[in-house]
Amino acid sequence: MARFNIEALAMSLNSQLTWRIGKLQKFSVGDVIRTRKNHPCGGNLWEVLRTGVDFRIKCKKCGRVLLLPRPKFEKSVKEVLKQVQKPD
Ligand SMILES: [Zn+2]
Repeated sequence: MARFNIEALAMSLNSQLTWRIGKLQKFSVGDVIRTRKNHPCGGNLWEVLRTGVDFRIKCKKCGRVLLLPRPKFEKSVKEVLKQVQKPD
């Protein structure tokens, strides 16, 4: 019985870890994200300039750059839009 419980726990931890890794790879440089709250300038679209422990994002509307710790960044993201290459 005890061994079964330990195995179940290990499996549960393993799936959580996989889920976390999946989440870590969700954002990449060049992605455009939409935030839950608008920037004071009125925009809510941001370009990801840097990923890692901290995220550097640039407001698409006013060009302001912010540096956010990952947990804060992840909480504020509403939607990820992969960058579309437009010929111009
Ligand atoms: Zn802005």
